[in-house]
Amino acid sequence: MVTSVDNSDGITLDTLVIGAGPVGLAAALFLADRGRTVRIIDKRLEPSPHSKAFGVNARTLELLAASGVTDAFLQNGRRLERISLHRHDEILATLNLSEVEHAFPFLCVQGQAHSERLLTDALRARSIAIERGLELTSLVNESEGVTATVSTGAVDTTIRARTVFAADGASSTARDLLGIDFTGISYPEKWRLYDVELAGPLDADDAHIMLLDDGGMFVVRHEDTMWRVLGSGRDLLGSLPAGTTVGSIHWESEFEIANRVATRFSDGEIYLGGDAAHVHAGIGARGMNLGIEDAFVFARMLDEGRLHEYDATRSAVVKKVVAQITHMMMVPRSTTIPGRLARTFPGIIRTMVPRLRHRVQPWLLGLDHSIDE
Ligand SMILES: Cc1cc2nc3c(=O)[nH]c(=O)nc-3n(C[C@H](O)[C@H](O)[C@H](O)COP(=O)(O)OP(=O)(O)OC[C@H]3O[C@@H](n4cnc5c(N)ncnc54)[C@H](O)[C@@H]3O)c2cc1C
Repeated sequence: MVTSVDNSDGITLDTLVIGAGPVGLAAALFLADRGRTVRIIDKRLEPSPHSKAFGVNARTLELLAASGVTDAFLQNGRRLERISLHRHDEILATLNLSEVEHAFPFLCVQGQAHSERLLTDALRARSIAIERGLELTSLVNESEGVTATVSTGAVDTTIRARTVFAADGASSTARDLLGIDFTGISYPEKWRLYDVELAGPLDADDAHIMLLDDGGMFVVRHEDTMWRVLGSGRDLLGSLPAGTTVGSIHWESEFEIANRVATRFSDGEIYLGGDAAHVHAGIGARGMNLGIEDAFVFARMLDEGRLHEYDATRSAVVKKVVAQITHMMMVPRSTTIPGRLARTFPGIIRTMVPRLRHRVQPWLLGLDHSIDE
């Protein structure tokens, strides 16, 4: 193994960002726009082709507006304003996000691969290139900053930076190296996802949540005739409304869901953000969006000399959102008491959703808390 040392003559780099998923990319962008020196590395040679997150919420659009990325997202994605709740082909209630007073009262539906591409374009326009094929293998807090070791497999390089923002995903190497626990719960059900061509009675402009006898299902069109079907029932595609034609399946995946939060979001001058710090069920499309908010808050606190507040500030926001998600997850699951009640007495949904919409709609847009909290 060959070893080399970068920027060995004193620390000139403000932040080394680990991971070029949406959160790392957003962090590099927010830092660059605040005049900070930044490098961003990723172990993958190519970006992931999979479009996991497809709902960009109002909070993210607000945070990325100054960089110009929001305009690019809005040109590329489509606006989703209505979400309907169904039981046995009947629409029980509809949420209308356009009722929320905000510059962006909708979700921008766009595959994660597109979001990453547009963020990468914005970094390129600022002369920042993702350094790919570099895997973080060691992180040490020193008296004046952090020394990271990154490896190509053949060459180890040490990079010194004043701070590290680790956005290296749910299996975060940084979190493991720092010995930070990732505590929470795992759901026993298997969840399935299909990106599939559909035609039929579902309104293609809306998103649809369906309470199935044995689970729940979320259905939304994301590109042309391609829809995302995601849920926990045994036969999701067979549970689509009568008259739906199922065409080619472009991506199919089975996964388990866990709600986990890191016990600390920082260690010395190393800060965790995105899935490295929190993962949770996709209800409400909060994962990527909450991570982009971590990135924004990190960049702002670095600028304002308030990074000592990052851990307490972000963990409070994230824990609150994850607790809300844990409660909301009781409805799509058929085995919980709220889940059984909603299926047996769908009138509860008909009555409760319109009453709760003034709280639920801003929550779905990521506007349930102030960015300054
Ligand atoms: C099916 C599905 C649907 C989803 N839908 C939504 C949605 O609608 N809205 C939403 O907000 N969220 C959604 N999410 C969650 C969202 O995808 C994640 O929250 C998001 O990808 C997290 O981004 P990240 O940048 O933190 O991590 P990641 O996207 O996982 O990126 C981490 C990066 O770090 C790199 N890396 C890892 N280890 C190292 C290392 N040692 N050295 C260097 N690089 C490393 C990886 O290669 C990767 O590129 C969904 C997730 C799933 C699975």
